[in-house]
Amino acid sequence: MQDSLSLFSPPPPHTRYVGRFAPSPTGPLHFGSLIAALASYLDAKANKGDWLLRIEDIDQPRCVGGADELIKQCLLAHGLQWDGDVWYQSQRLSVYKAVIDALNEKQVVYGCRCTRKLIRQHGGVYPGTCRQAELPLSNNAVRLCCSGMTASFTDNILGHVTVSEPHALEDTLLQRRDGIYSYNLVVVVDDIAQGVTHIVRGSDLLDTTAAHLTLYHQLDAQIPTYAHIPVAATETGRKLSKQNHARALDITSPEHNLLRALNFLGLSAVQGSTVSDILDAAVASWQYGNVPKMQEVIVDETESTYHTGRDI
Ligand SMILES: [Zn+2]
Repeated sequence: MQDSLSLFSPPPPHTRYVGRFAPSPTGPLHFGSLIAALASYLDAKANKGDWLLRIEDIDQPRCVGGADELIKQCLLAHGLQWDGDVWYQSQRLSVYKAVIDALNEKQVVYGCRCTRKLIRQHGGVYPGTCRQAELPLSNNAVRLCCSGMTASFTDNILGHVTVSEPHALEDTLLQRRDGIYSYNLVVVVDDIAQGVTHIVRGSDLLDTTAAHLTLYHQLDAQIPTYAHIPVAATETGRKLSKQNHARALDITSPEHNLLRALNFLGLSAVQGSTVSDILDAAVASWQYGNVPKMQEVIVDETESTYHTGRDI
C-alpha cells in the first residue's frame, strides 16, 4: 500500500501511457459498462500502454458480493486482460485518511454539518456556509474549497470544455458525515497513486472533472489527459444502468457484444470472427475522431445504436 508521504512527493513526469477501467461492483457488467471498458482498453493498447483494473468498492452498502468476480470474468471473456494487480479501494482507507489530513494541513478543507434539507433550500447547490466556521473534521462532512479554481480543460474527444453546472463547481464533498469517502476524492487519489496518465470514461462524469482538477492542483500532481465518450441511453437523459434494469452482458457471445460496442464507438468497419481478431483490428483502427462527439447515444431494447443522441 502506498503511504501518504510517497503520495505527496513530487510525482515523476509521465513517461508512458497508463490507463484504467474502474467499475463499481454493484452488479454484472452491461452494454454501457462494456463501452467504457473497451474504449479505455483500446486507447491504452493503441498507445502501447498499460491498462489497469480498479474495483471502486468504496461505498460498501451499494456493493454486491461476488460482483467483482463477475466483472473480471466478463472482461476476460471479451479479451480485455488488465495489466498488473487489481486494486480495491476498500483496502486503501488509511491512504484516503492521510490525504484528507494533508489537505487539512494545507487548510483547503473544512468540516461541514449542513443538512441535505438546508442545501436543498439553496437550490441544491452548496453555498459554502461552513467555510469559515472552523468546525472539526471528525463527525462532520469534509469539503474541499473549490472557489476560484479552474474548471476548463482540453478533452481529447470533445475539445475545449468548461464546466459550468453549478453543483459541479461547489465546494466538493470529500468525506460524508458517515465516514464514507467520496467518489471525487478516491478516484483522484488512486489515479495519482497508480500513475494513470490517460482517463477515458463516460460523459456522465464530465462535470466531475472540475472537482478533480482542483484536487490534482491541491495534491501537486500532474493532471492526466481526459477523453469523454458518449454514454448509452435508452432515451434522452436516461442512461443505461443497473438502476434502469440494463441487462447483464451475455458472456457466451463476446464477439457479438464487441462488434456492437465498436459500432457505438464509431468503429463499425471493424470486423473479425474471434475476440482476438476483433480486438487487434479495433486497436489498429482506434482514433478519437471516430467517436461520436455527443453526451449520449440512444440505444434500443436490443441495444442497437442510433447516433441521434443529444449533442454536447
Ligand atoms: Zn456546511
